[in-house]
Amino acid sequence: MKHTFDAIIVGSGGSGLYAALEVSAKAKTAVLSKVYPVRSHTGAAQGGISAALGNVEADDPRWHAFDTVKGGDYLVDQQAAMLMAEEAVQAVYDLENRGLPFNRTPDGRIDQRRFGGHTRNFGEAPVRRACYAADRTGHMILQTLYQQCIKNGVHFYDEYQVLDLALKDNQCAGVVALQLSTGEIHVFEAKTVLFATGGFGRMFKITSNAYANTGDGPAICARRGIPLQDMEFFQFHPTGIKGLGILISEAVRGEGGILRNNRNERFMARFAPTLLDLAPRDMVSRAIMTEIRSGNGIRGDRKIDDYVHLDATHLGKETLQSKLPDITDFCKTYLGIDPAENPIPVLPTAHYGMGGIPTDTHGRVVIDNKGTLIHGLYAVGECACVSVHGANRLGTNSLLDLVVFGRRAGRHMADYVNHGDPAGIATDATDFSREWITRLTAKKKGPHGGRIFDKMQRTMMEKVGIYRTETHMARAVGEIQTLRERYMMVRAEDRRNAFNTDLLELIELGNLLDLSLITAVSALNRRESRGAHSREDYPDRDDPQWLKHTLARLEKDDVGLTYKDVDVSLWKPKPRTY
Ligand SMILES: Cc1cc2nc3c(=O)[nH]c(=O)nc-3n(C[C@H](O)[C@H](O)[C@H](O)COP(=O)(O)OP(=O)(O)OC[C@H]3O[C@@H](n4cnc5c(N)ncnc54)[C@H](O)[C@@H]3O)c2cc1C
Repeated sequence: MKHTFDAIIVGSGGSGLYAALEVSAKAKTAVLSKVYPVRSHTGAAQGGISAALGNVEADDPRWHAFDTVKGGDYLVDQQAAMLMAEEAVQAVYDLENRGLPFNRTPDGRIDQRRFGGHTRNFGEAPVRRACYAADRTGHMILQTLYQQCIKNGVHFYDEYQVLDLALKDNQCAGVVALQLSTGEIHVFEAKTVLFATGGFGRMFKITSNAYANTGDGPAICARRGIPLQDMEFFQFHPTGIKGLGILISEAVRGEGGILRNNRNERFMARFAPTLLDLAPRDMVSRAIMTEIRSGNGIRGDRKIDDYVHLDATHLGKETLQSKLPDITDFCKTYLGIDPAENPIPVLPTAHYGMGGIPTDTHGRVVIDNKGTLIHGLYAVGECACVSVHGANRLGTNSLLDLVVFGRRAGRHMADYVNHGDPAGIATDATDFSREWITRLTAKKKGPHGGRIFDKMQRTMMEKVGIYRTETHMARAVGEIQTLRERYMMVRAEDRRNAFNTDLLELIELGNLLDLSLITAVSALNRRESRGAHSREDYPDRDDPQWLKHTLARLEKDDVGLTYKDVDVSLWKPKPRTY
């Protein structure tokens, strides 16, 4: 079946919905989502959205931009970060005007709390910059935007999984999608397409990410020849529930929670004397792993299960209930403990991909160092790389990225649809998707996809995780290449058309395998340590050689690498101390 729109948005998280809201004011717009819109991962975001409102203490967008640049270990494009920090203030007030129920100060303004790496006056001390709605900030953003999109008459295609992107001579023509309820292939023709497909944390064994976070957008783009930027930078959040990876928001530390080792010591005092537990995530995750490796971890069932404590007992029941109610519930449900009475056992969990589809500050996809565009194609949110997060994202800057760049992309798309002609979708646009599905469903025999999934996640966790070495990463590349070969032989055991989740998971596995390969090759290639990319064999940051963005192109079984300049026009790179 074929549908024609002015604009197609793939993904209904915060970034997709914000863009949809803007573009739908001027153009016929459809949002495609593989999950019901408000089940997108944005709804799981807990802690907050940053903006230098200065409601509780003095703040300044320039401080915010500087923290973002320094937090990202100077791989951030600095004008983009400044733009985000400046537009943050209005973006948060716009959300408020659209009905978002933020927590309030006693005099009725939006309340703000501390978060890692956010400081006053260029690094002096932590600042209260995160606006929040208890620990359900993302949920509130998503509900608010969804209501507004319905009001604007956006067409929603819920439970449609996009499989492919149609391009024609460097111009975007539309997308191909599978309708989950029928198994039918649909073609969506449009002048402009925006990918807002979210993260890809499911490539790791232990992750805070939802099951749907399988990087479909970046993988689809990579297969169509678009390079992916800075994929070696994947953030591990310091405080996942031990063994499960479910996130315990940084807001717990923002409200005063403390990390402790087996001697009950506040060990962050040794790693980050000024910011302590509120240092950026890459540093805190490494500090936890260093403590455990030095024998200071709390003993788990086996040696490899050692962990540390996140102590929130001194915050009191009332603060926990009013500011962190969901976290309190998680601890009760998954650990059987009350955080007001017992410390929470935590370990780092794979959380956020800094890299993704390269874009400019209008969300337009840019494929090289010269600024070459794919006309009509946009990306925004976690699947994109602007780059405002560089080598390590600061907490609360992702929700901000969604809103600021979702809005900018939506506005630009609205202008774009009013110029020029549609590329027109080719008659063979569905061939690739049909062949893929046939390969997965027509075979009588073949290996089980679940085992390949598990092996991929273990390989990435163990060999391309928090600490990295040449030997381990080289092995990971080989293993992922073998898994990709085996993937060509897998078969779906379920043959039904309606809600064939077996088939959908195999498609997602194919996407994650491609992204794992790109991530591992990009990481192996970068011979320095920067932000979340921490190499034991190259422990220092190496600006003369490596102050550059990686652009990785999927070339069949291999990955080709080129580079792109980093914008350092505002602040000269300096060593990072906190
Ligand atoms: C547990 C958790 C807590 C977090 N807390 C915070 C926080 O407090 N503050 C902060 O700033 N950040 C936080 N983050 C990060 C932030 O929430 C995410 O980076 C952000 O929400 C991603 O939004 P998005 O719009 O890019 O994508 P998502 O919200 O992940 O949405 C992706 C959308 O794409 C759709 N999609 C994907 N593939 C396809 C396909 N093939 N076809 C059709 N549709 C598709 C999905 O259906 C979904 O609608 C948190 C993340 C997690 C996991």
